[in-house]
Amino acid sequence: MNYPNINETHRIETGQLDMPPRLLLGPGPSNTHPRVQQAIATHEVGHLDPAFIGVMNDIQEMLRYAWQTDNSFTLPVSGTGSAAMEATLANLVEPGDVVLVGVMGYFGERLVDMAGRYGADVQTLEKPWGDVFTLAEIRAGLERHKPAILALVHAETSTGALQPMEGIGELCREHNCLLLLDTVTSLGTTPVFLDGWGVDVAYSCSQKGLSCPPGASPFTLSERALDKLHGRKTKVANWYLDMSLLSKYWDGQTRSYHHTAPINMMYALREGLRVVVEEGLDARWSRHQANAQLFWNGLAEMGLSCHVTEPSLRIPALTTVRVPDGVDAKIVAGRLLNEYNIEIAGGFGQLAGQVWRVGLMRFNSRPENVTLLLAALAEVLG
Ligand SMILES: *Cc1c(COP(=O)(O)O)cnc(C)c1O
Repeated sequence: MNYPNINETHRIETGQLDMPPRLLLGPGPSNTHPRVQQAIATHEVGHLDPAFIGVMNDIQEMLRYAWQTDNSFTLPVSGTGSAAMEATLANLVEPGDVVLVGVMGYFGERLVDMAGRYGADVQTLEKPWGDVFTLAEIRAGLERHKPAILALVHAETSTGALQPMEGIGELCREHNCLLLLDTVTSLGTTPVFLDGWGVDVAYSCSQKGLSCPPGASPFTLSERALDKLHGRKTKVANWYLDMSLLSKYWDGQTRSYHHTAPINMMYALREGLRVVVEEGLDARWSRHQANAQLFWNGLAEMGLSCHVTEPSLRIPALTTVRVPDGVDAKIVAGRLLNEYNIEIAGGFGQLAGQVWRVGLMRFNSRPENVTLLLAALAEVLG
């Protein structure tokens, strides 16, 4: 055959994929667990194959363990954490609903943006980046704004601060309001008790605490949240993330097609969760805390300090390190990457140029990584 009209301009020749062996100690992605990598390479089956349905069931049940919830509506959204984040608001916000967002960093700002796009009457509580909310501040916010939903970020990855959760769920019930919680950086690294805390809506991601690549993101709704979803007067304004449609694929009965599940990402998530189950939450949370403490001690010995001064309010999996006066944060991060193959991140927004963000998450939360990073940092800082 002869096709005279083929345009050859974009027919480039490229080399075989050859990525540098980075140690990913930024805010995510963290390095994939070797067992997860193997699982991804497993051959596909169809998305309605009984064998795949077994994979789905395993994921849902292990997610309930990881999150400490009995919510039957627990599933992974196809997409990164932001897709699950958007799914929470897309499904629960109806135009005109008051949504109160606690903004103590970038991801709170993003919740504000997303809620507004779904027609919410968005109100905010605000804190400087690095602080957290007190129970009294949250109570005052609920009394003043009478929201349908209170949205909080548990582990604010942009600041390193961990929001204490005790008592907030009870306040939300007193004020007849749903509690929505971002657990993207806390799930699998830091104690999370969704049911114990009275959380109604939560989401997370695969590439931070669960040692998977980005692409499949945990999502859960309590019975109270499901009542709100089922009582909607308007359709969910986002077809792809509409849980009333997606539930027919995940609910264990109908199994009807909505979109093709990313099969190999689900293999990855299943393996990542199996690793969580094998280790056990207790051991896993303790390990993250111990390695964070090792890192914090090492920083102090070098004369460096943490942006979040109170240790109990730091995210164990993500530390914000203050950049010393006269040091260019970008140059240091660039040298760590180019000379040591270590990725850490800088700050942004209110913390631009002021902090480095260091993640010691799941597979990377190991003492030898702490030692390596501290030594490299000491060399680069001279
Ligand atoms: C990373 C992150 C997200 C977004 O997840 P993506 O996987 O990047 O889409 C949301 N919230 C928090 C707190 C995060 O750290």
